[in-house]
Amino acid sequence: MTQKPLQIAILGSTGSIGRQTLEVIDEHPGRFQVEVLTAHENASLLIRQALRYKPNTVVIGNEKYYGKVSGALSGTDIKVFAGQKSIEQIVRSREIDMVLVAIVGYAGMRPTIEAIRARKRIALANKESLVVAGHIISPLVVQNKVELIPVDSEHSAIFQALTGENPERIQKLILTASGGPFLDKTAEELKHISLEESLRHPNWSMGAKITIDSASMMNKGLEVIEAKWLFGIPIERIEVIIHPESIIHSFVHFIDGSLKAQLSTPDMRYPIQYALSYPDRLKNTFQHFDFKDYNKFSFRQADMQKFRNLALAFEAGKAGGNAPCVLNAANEVAVAAYLAKKISFLALPEVVEYCLQQIPFEKNPDIEALEDCHQHTVRTASEFIKKNY
Ligand code: NAD
Ligand code: MG
Repeated sequence: MTQKPLQIAILGSTGSIGRQTLEVIDEHPGRFQVEVLTAHENASLLIRQALRYKPNTVVIGNEKYYGKVSGALSGTDIKVFAGQKSIEQIVRSREIDMVLVAIVGYAGMRPTIEAIRARKRIALANKESLVVAGHIISPLVVQNKVELIPVDSEHSAIFQALTGENPERIQKLILTASGGPFLDKTAEELKHISLEESLRHPNWSMGAKITIDSASMMNKGLEVIEAKWLFGIPIERIEVIIHPESIIHSFVHFIDGSLKAQLSTPDMRYPIQYALSYPDRLKNTFQHFDFKDYNKFSFRQADMQKFRNLALAFEAGKAGGNAPCVLNAANEVAVAAYLAKKISFLALPEVVEYCLQQIPFEKNPDIEALEDCHQHTVRTASEFIKKNY
C-alpha cells in the first residue's frame, strides 16, 4: 500500500532551518510534499525553491517583493501572496497536514498560534514564540489536541528521551550547551570580541541571530524557557551544562536516578527529520555518529557571571508574565544593533537588563498585551542604544 505524502507548509523556507528541511525532504522522495513556502525578503531564493518544489502557494512576507515573486512564477499555477497577515492565513489551508515554523524571532508567534488553532500538526523550530507566549500556546495545544514536536536539537533530544515515559517521573531536565566560540575567553577578553568572531560557531551552522545568541548564551536562556513550556517543568528543575562536543543533545534525569540522553553528530537535519517522521524513524544518508571519532566527552558548569544573558533568562523565566517577552524583544533589538556594529558584545546583556528593569511587570498578558509589550520594549531598547552607545 502506498502512503499519501505528508503535505507540509514551511514557514521561513529560505533560512537555515528552512533550507535544511528541504534537504530532509529531498532524502525521502514520495514521503513528503511541499504545499506552502514562505519567506520574508529573500525573493530570489523563494522563487528558486518554488520552481523546484512546485508548492500550491508561496507567501513573501515583505510586500515590496510581491511583484518580483508573482512575475517570476506567472507561468506556473503556484499561487502567490504577500504580507505578514497572509502567512498567518495560509496555515489554515485544508491541504496542509503539518506546519514547520522556521521563522526567526517574535514574528513566528502569530503564525504558530494560527496553525495550532487550525489544528495542524506543528514542527516548531521557532523558540521565541514559546518564550514570549508559552502560557498561551501550551494550553492551546492541549485544547486543540494538536501534536507539537520540537525541532530545536535539545528539545528534540528530551522529547525522544521521554518517549514511553511518565512525565511525572521526571526529576529534572538538563540542557546541553556547546558554550559557543567564547567559552574559554576571560571576561576581559570578551570586551574586545569582533562581530566576525561571534559569527563563527564551532559546531553548528545557523542563521545570524541564533549564532549571536549562541555566542552570548542567550540562546540557551531562551531554550530553558522553551523547555519549561514544552515539557511543563518549572525553571527551578531545568539545568544547563556545557558540553563542547555537541554530541549529547540533552538529558532527562528521572526520579530513580537514571538519565536518558539522545546523541548524534551536530546536524540539524536529525531533529528536523525526527519532527517530520515522528513517531517513525527514517533511514538517511547523513553522516552518522561514530564513537571512534571521539575519545572523550567533556562537561563543565556554565559561567553565568561571564555570560550574564543566561542569568537574565533564568530570572525572566522564573518571573514569568511578560518578563520573557521583554527579555526576547530587548535581545532582538540588541542583536540587530550588534549585527549592524552599533554596539559591542558586552552591551548585549546591558540592553536586556535595562529593559527588564524599565518595563512594568504584567502577570498574565494576553496576545494583545504581549504585542504592546513587545513594541514598547523595542522602542525602549532602541532609545537606550541610541543614547548610550
Ligand atoms: P534564519 O535567519 O536563517 O532564517 C529565518 C527565516 O525566517 C527566513 O526564511 C526568513 O525569510 C524568515 N523571516 C525572517 N523574518 C521574518 C518575518 N518578520 N516574517 C516572516 N518570516 C520571517 O534563521 P534560522 O537559523 O533558520 O532559525 C529559525 C528559527 O529556528 C529561530 O527561531 C531559531 O532560534 C530556531 N533554531 C534554529 C537552529 C539552526 O540551526 N539554525 C537551531 C535550533 C533552533
Ligand atoms: Mg538548540
